[in-house]
Amino acid sequence: MLDADFFRRWMTAAAASVDREAERLTALDSPIGDADHGSNMQRGFRAVRTVLETEEPATPGAILQVAGRRLISSVGGASGPLYGTLFRRAGKALGDAAEVTEEQLTEALRTGVEAVTALGGAAPGDKTMIDALVPAVEALGTSFAAASAAADKGAAATTPLQARKGRASYLGERSIGHQDPGATSSALLFAALAEAAG
Ligand code: ADP
Ligand code: MG
Ligand code: MG
Repeated sequence: MLDADFFRRWMTAAAASVDREAERLTALDSPIGDADHGSNMQRGFRAVRTVLETEEPATPGAILQVAGRRLISSVGGASGPLYGTLFRRAGKALGDAAEVTEEQLTEALRTGVEAVTALGGAAPGDKTMIDALVPAVEALGTSFAAASAAADKGAAATTPLQARKGRASYLGERSIGHQDPGATSSALLFAALAEAAG
């Protein structure tokens, strides 16, 4: 079973990973965006770390909802509302249980990813975070490590794609040949989940 401590470890590992990789995320957002994805993610996850220390939400669902709300309120870019929606909706789906199963987490994240799709309108293949999130959630039924590997693979597979959503889509064919920054940060979030589990 996955308890509140597990979810706190996930968010803490995500914040640490985003801190380590912020420069790389911003560098990826430079040729096909506005060079702020690393700083957006860093601002958001630092705020998440702070709110989890001050508010001390006690259940898995509450932790994800608090994190999601904080991402929405602290990140100005597109990724804030999108990741915020992912965590808020996943948290809501977990309800107020003190512990949840891996199956419940998988289902909750599937609900969260569907909400991201509804909000942003991106389908798989549009060169967005969806290209990492969808395969990661699918592979979560196997293991946390498999989900992390699937997210990495999904992020790498965005390189040859032409962007159809978000800022990168303004570039048309010139978006081809660059890995999507949001798909890359999604892979970091699933690596952090595997880290929390291991
Ligand atoms: P902004 O583009 O506002 O500067 P960020 O740089 O923080 O925001 O985030 C950019 C990332 O957000 C993209 O790499 C992409 O993965 C994701 N993204 C942008 N628009 C959408 C969308 N409509 N649906 C899903 N993901 C999106
Ligand atoms: Mg940007
Ligand atoms: Mg921006």
